[in-house]
Amino acid sequence: MAPNDLPAVVIQRSEVAPGLVVLRLAPDGWELPEFEPGQFAVLGLPGSAPRYRLSEPEASPPKDPSKVIRRAYSIASSSKARSYLEFYVALVSTGALTPRLFALGIGDRVFMSTRISGILTLEEVPYDKHLVLVATGTGIAPYMSMVRTYVDLHSPRRFAVIHGAYHSWDLGYRDELMTLSRLCPTFTYLPSLSHPQQEPVPWPGHVGFVQSTWTDGTLEREWGFRPAPSDTHVYLCGNPAMIDDMVEILRRDGFTEHSRKQPGTVHVERFW
Ligand SMILES: Cc1cc2nc3c(=O)[nH]c(=O)nc-3n(C[C@H](O)[C@H](O)[C@H](O)COP(=O)(O)OP(=O)(O)OC[C@H]3O[C@@H](n4cnc5c(N)ncnc54)[C@H](O)[C@@H]3O)c2cc1C
Repeated sequence: MAPNDLPAVVIQRSEVAPGLVVLRLAPDGWELPEFEPGQFAVLGLPGSAPRYRLSEPEASPPKDPSKVIRRAYSIASSSKARSYLEFYVALVSTGALTPRLFALGIGDRVFMSTRISGILTLEEVPYDKHLVLVATGTGIAPYMSMVRTYVDLHSPRRFAVIHGAYHSWDLGYRDELMTLSRLCPTFTYLPSLSHPQQEPVPWPGHVGFVQSTWTDGTLEREWGFRPAPSDTHVYLCGNPAMIDDMVEILRRDGFTEHSRKQPGTVHVERFW
């Protein structure tokens, strides 16, 4: 595999918790295309690339080790950051690509697509609508790009990020989102833990799945009104089971799924 086939370089690697890593990749000798927050790039490594020492053996090792294994990853950095793209990746221990991505260090090369795509963007949402961004795990990545690009102290538009994780240490970007909610009155951050009994000290925040943050009125209490399809769009990203549940809950509240043909107020991205 020639280095030119792997046109990006790792410039930062931060381990959030075991099995969760933030990677910053810089293009080597080419310019990043313009993109909309919420879109994804394709990352890849050849089958010959080493696997992370804490991963498990893959079910079927690659037949052709020179072939690049490619997967989609949402961009977490702002579209205003022009020298790198940031990604938030969960280790799938027996997976094909993530154990190889986890083995990367600073200066290592990786395939990063020059094309950026995806429809989970804010482009089709009128500017006077509020936004509720619901994620599990690394599903927070596209919202980080949106928040980092668009949250504005002087805008009347409200942003709420509802983020679900097993443990408090799995809540990637928590410090940044807490700081933002302290500084910006229109930004609300609502993390929720599904396994609070495993916390070393009692968790003072919301417990349960992200679905209950919506159904039990937590957001309504924060905002002072109940978000409705007339004033709010909802985004769902991450675990497909959470998305299926939320689509049904939101349907009962009058929200409808958005598509290019049929505009609606629920925008969805399933990671698998
Ligand atoms: C549009 C899009 C954006 C994506 N963005 C991200 C992202 O920002 N961060 C990210 O970590 N992943 C993201 N993914 C998932 C990513 O593309 C890969 O599927 C994932 O990293 C697993 O790759 P793998 O080769 O290691 O596993 P594979 O060998 O391909 O195994 C796939 C299996 O792993 C499981 N799996 C996949 N993703 C996850 C996950 N996140 N958590 C737990 N189990 C999982 C599922 O059971 C799936 O069937 C995105 C997927 C899509 C379609």
